[in-house]
Amino acid sequence: MPEGQVITVTGPRPVSALGVVDAHDHLLIDSPGMPGQGFADVALSTVEARDGVASGITTLVEMTPIGLGRNPAGLRAISKHSGLAIIAASGFHRDAHYPAGSWVYDAPVELLRDRIVTDLTRGMHPADWHDPSLPLDEARAGAIKGGASYHHISHAERRRLEAIGAASAATGAAVLVHTEIGTAAHEIVDLLEAAGATTDRIALAHLDRNPDWELHAEVAARGVTLEYDTIGRTKYHPDSVVLDLIERVAAAGHLDRIVLGLDLGARSYLRAYDGGPGMRYLMTAFVPRLRRRLGDDAVARILIANPARLYAMPVAGGAASPG
Ligand SMILES: [Zn+2]
Repeated sequence: MPEGQVITVTGPRPVSALGVVDAHDHLLIDSPGMPGQGFADVALSTVEARDGVASGITTLVEMTPIGLGRNPAGLRAISKHSGLAIIAASGFHRDAHYPAGSWVYDAPVELLRDRIVTDLTRGMHPADWHDPSLPLDEARAGAIKGGASYHHISHAERRRLEAIGAASAATGAAVLVHTEIGTAAHEIVDLLEAAGATTDRIALAHLDRNPDWELHAEVAARGVTLEYDTIGRTKYHPDSVVLDLIERVAAAGHLDRIVLGLDLGARSYLRAYDGGPGMRYLMTAFVPRLRRRLGDDAVARILIANPARLYAMPVAGGAASPG
């Protein structure tokens, strides 16, 4: 088990105490780019979190970035009332989530970077940095989200990814980047590396939207973590596609680069909001099948050891000098 600590919304926690990690999910989100699909009810999200805990998840990485309705006080309340350890995010999504005129398009790279570093080292801004004079929340972010478009990184996305790479270099925090249908993987990693991030701090989300195991093995060989999250997303493909993919990537020698999440980023996916499959699906429906394919040891590496290594802050307490 790796050494060090992760930063949860209720404070630092030794990585050895993380248990089973849902490496990419959402508990409170309201994206301007997804009208009607947001969910921001702390009481209902607490019900969903309790259901996840009952299924066997002990830590969840809440990957809602700046501008999509982050609510650090709400996450603290959910954690307290469900027992779920929650790692919150700073960083920025792809262009599709920000309306024209949003400050994230015009801000200099240094300002984008400094706001991420502040979220990580001093406390999260309580209202997505709309009013920078508001006092910071006591909860710190423990990871950084990024985003790119389909087969393309726009000019504005490029600047935000530069800021994200620099913030990772300054703090040691992990970066998880949204790929649109698994595309632009190498370009995203190139950009983050050029900005100072090291590949052991980088993970790519949704690569399994394009279940091309040879591409994934290439990306993993660079030291990048593969985050699979189309589990239960039957509209894209059956779970057997993800099981086959994990088996092939593991056989190619990259079992230690795989982490799993559900990425339930729309209210229609949550049981507590009268949708599905819900947070329990990972442990109740998918993991038993994964165990039959790979055995208990491999499953423990994917669910416990790999995310612990990814989200550990290399500096004790995650402290780093801002800026
Ligand atoms: Zn997400």
